[in-house]
Amino acid sequence: MPRLARRALLALAGLGLAAAPAAAQPFPNRTVTIVVPFAAGGPTDTVARLVAEAMGRELGQTVVVENAGGAGGTIGAQRVAQARPDGHTLLLHHIGMATTPSLYRRLAYDPIGGFEPVGLITEVPMTLVAKKDFPANTLAEAIAVIRQRRDALNYANAGIGAASHLCGLLLMKAVDTAMTTVPFRGTGPAMQELLSGRIDLMCDQTTNTTEQINSGAIKAFAVTTRERVASLPNLPTSAEAGLPAFEVSVWHGLYAPKGTPAEITRRLSQALQVALRDPRLVARFAELGTTPVAQDRATPEAHRAFWMADIAKWQPIIQAAGQYAD
Ligand code: ASP
Repeated sequence: MPRLARRALLALAGLGLAAAPAAAQPFPNRTVTIVVPFAAGGPTDTVARLVAEAMGRELGQTVVVENAGGAGGTIGAQRVAQARPDGHTLLLHHIGMATTPSLYRRLAYDPIGGFEPVGLITEVPMTLVAKKDFPANTLAEAIAVIRQRRDALNYANAGIGAASHLCGLLLMKAVDTAMTTVPFRGTGPAMQELLSGRIDLMCDQTTNTTEQINSGAIKAFAVTTRERVASLPNLPTSAEAGLPAFEVSVWHGLYAPKGTPAEITRRLSQALQVALRDPRLVARFAELGTTPVAQDRATPEAHRAFWMADIAKWQPIIQAAGQYAD
């Protein structure tokens, strides 16, 4: 073969090699990290650890939880929005994903466009709880104390946009008064302060309060959902206790960074669905007063539709309240 032709052939072969798709890397090919935008030991963290363990079994890879609390959940969310979109860094967040776009006007990431929804996980009831020696035993008595002592009382939350913040806003609006709010990096650390009596009141998911309520370590006045919760059968709903406008439940979802390939998001969603059927996860959720969502809600499409509807629901409420975090 003439030298020129051989060179051309070699060059073509080289091109062919370069153009051939790199052998598709199996997914996941290393540890998957789920970022929780609140401190360890709190309710979002508890849900994330159960999901991580069960997804890890299905994916055949370790799934670890990393806590990045602060600024109402926006620090952890930013970390994931800016992570490499290869499915190995995920965000497990709550209702804050629907309120942040309206509450924060200046963010270093796109709170909607920065993410690919993977699937919904659970909707968790909230409870209004107080330190053990709070001088009230019913919601009506608690409201009387709140009205009387107002800002002499400390109300804990996990920062602006956190579920505990929204729940506190609804409560203060319903009883038309204000309390001194103390922000924490998550309601895990806030619970420690409630247990030690340095915080008076808090509103938090049953995934963080059920065991302390049932052991008598804290007091509870109401569950903020329409139905009572099986794990707290004696706790009245806020409507039963005389405050029907005080209703809120907290949904959790899993997100990948924007640009994550669709086949990876799909694989993650399948693994999430398997995790949500895991008997250990289902049993622990039940002990903590919650249940996994139906399988057809643990999909990117159902998650996106629900998320967008919730953004639209909260926007007028936040705007009317003139509430901004920045
Ligand atoms: N429950 C917290 C909140 O108020 C967050 C957490 O620590 O999970 O949003």
